[in-house]
Amino acid sequence: MLAKLQETAAALRARGFESHVFETAEQAAAFVLGDAAPGALIAVGGSMTVKNLGLADRLREKGHEVLWHWEAAPADRAALLARAMHADLYLASANALTESGMIVQIDGTGNRVGAMAFGPKTVCLIVGRNKLVSGGTADAVRRIKTVACPANARRLGLATPCAQTGKCDQSACTKSMCSVTSTFERAPGGRRFIVLLVNEDLGY
Ligand code: SF4
Repeated sequence: MLAKLQETAAALRARGFESHVFETAEQAAAFVLGDAAPGALIAVGGSMTVKNLGLADRLREKGHEVLWHWEAAPADRAALLARAMHADLYLASANALTESGMIVQIDGTGNRVGAMAFGPKTVCLIVGRNKLVSGGTADAVRRIKTVACPANARRLGLATPCAQTGKCDQSACTKSMCSVTSTFERAPGGRRFIVLLVNEDLGY
């Protein structure tokens, strides 16, 4: 698997992304903690990978202000999400990554995709090996709809068709988490876009 991750990192670099491979999530976390510029304002997208690593609190311990809508009261969420677009660093994960180096995301509100596409000057994704797909973007979307979405819907207690049956049924889905599907084929221009690949299963 490590060789496959290295090949994917090379494919990402050919598309303008910065990419590094780590054996463990803890090594990737150490990279993030060491790479963030002193005093940088950091925003976090919805990510079980980031949550399980405790990175928000660990960055705060280093003196960073961290914006994370998962921690915000509902009344404060909109203002926080707007401010997150102007952070110095945006930290998240990917829903799926093709071996050819394309990142595929599906968002309910679009805040994460928006920030990644045209927000903070630096974006950093921590991506576990379980997010890698061998096919193209259709395979990536299939992974998201059959693995990530059902798991996320169950975590949130949403009675979506995918949570109940494991299969997507958009026509019967009234609480969809799939409003926006986006593919990052190359790193957006003029920004630093880092993808940290980890030889462990992380998140959904
Ligand atoms: S559209 Fe609805 S049912 Fe389909 S994957 Fe998304 S949340 Fe699940």
